Amino acid sequence: MKIWLTMLIAAISINLSANELKLDNSLAYKLTESLTVEVGPRIAGSAADERAVVWAEKNLTALGYDKVWREAFDMPYWQRGAASLTVKAPFHQSLVVTALGGSIATPVNGIDSNVVMFASLEQLKQATAKNVKGKIVFINTSMEKDQEGNFYGEVVGVRSQGAIEAAKLGAQAVIIRSVGTSLNRFAHTGVMRYSDKVTRIPAAAISVPDAIQLEKMLALEPNLSLHLTMQNKLPGTVKSHNVIAEITGSTRPDEIVLISAHLDSWDQGTGALDDAAGVGLVMAVGALIKQQGRPERTIRVVLFGNEEGGLLGAKAYAAKHANNLDKHVFASESDFGADRIWRLDSGVGEKSLAFIADLHKKLAHLDISLGNNDAYGGPDVSVLKALGVPVVTLLQDGTDYFDYHHTANDTFDKVNAEALAQNLAAWIITTKAVANSDIDLRQ
Ligand code: ZN
Ligand code: ZN
Repeated sequence: MKIWLTMLIAAISINLSANELKLDNSLAYKLTESLTVEVGPRIAGSAADERAVVWAEKNLTALGYDKVWREAFDMPYWQRGAASLTVKAPFHQSLVVTALGGSIATPVNGIDSNVVMFASLEQLKQATAKNVKGKIVFINTSMEKDQEGNFYGEVVGVRSQGAIEAAKLGAQAVIIRSVGTSLNRFAHTGVMRYSDKVTRIPAAAISVPDAIQLEKMLALEPNLSLHLTMQNKLPGTVKSHNVIAEITGSTRPDEIVLISAHLDSWDQGTGALDDAAGVGLVMAVGALIKQQGRPERTIRVVLFGNEEGGLLGAKAYAAKHANNLDKHVFASESDFGADRIWRLDSGVGEKSLAFIADLHKKLAHLDISLGNNDAYGGPDVSVLKALGVPVVTLLQDGTDYFDYHHTANDTFDKVNAEALAQNLAAWIITTKAVANSDIDLRQ
């Protein structure tokens, strides 16, 4: 066991009776470090994913959770292989490329073809097969920074739908400008989709500087041709797991206050911002609340598996707990990096808005404003919200998040300890407020 964990447990046992325990506001940070250093990248379905599950079970138990268990679900496993993209005559250069998650491989010898550029998915949809058939489609949509991350929602369709739209017009492959905001030479991966109605074609992303480079080359030579190779594998169906832990409520143990993050990550970085920081945060929240006295309602920490591949763990959780969702009084997820929280949004019944306003007063000293009642609660939790579970979102500042998102550069050094401590304070206040009240947030 790690020394700091041993010390924490000792601190709990020494001071709990005196109820004078000073909260360890670096606990979320330490857990984030532990997951990224000791497990590192953990793509769903891999051996590293299983190591992350074991890591979570071991640490949740050491943190004093009353119950810790795992729930299995089936998922299609995808393995990244080597990828290369070369510009042929007259420029003869390599571009930084990465496969999009779920993409098939190219033939072993790669694909050699002319490239045709589109500024957006919409422009591709309006194109004719005559201009696209047999070519590599390049979708060159740029993305801007914003605090809420709204641009991501506008642009991400290029990644998820690009292969379908390009294949409809007979393209051999699609490459996209990375869905990201950094000018560093890292390609951003992320999940892509196929449709059963159209041919499956390989899909990859190039870094933003390479997209700018390719655009300039095409301006000089419209008949440019590329050589693309990707050796991804799709080995079939495997098991992954959600990891669940509880602090049992003292007076209403059947009422569940669910706080969550996702345990899986993409494979290029160490999944620090996405989403080890969220994992460390919610693991710390339950443990630290228990130190202050057992909550009235049960606090359930859910570390969802395979968020990145399409919310598969969240869907499995919702199916398995379908008969008990009316006892889920609240849900929220941390999955937007590790910067400070700046706004509280809710997704609750009208009568509960007074409770949210009161909660906001308790958060105001952390420089958190009150937003709207349209929150979706986080990607995994949105599945529960759609089934009627009330949610809040503690919005993190996402201005820089998409510099690192899904790249090799998403590593622990990007996590700011002070910002994460502010997150921890806000999450403890929010979780305690719901867990120690009898508010029905559905009303
Ligand atoms: Zn995430
Ligand atoms: Zn992600």
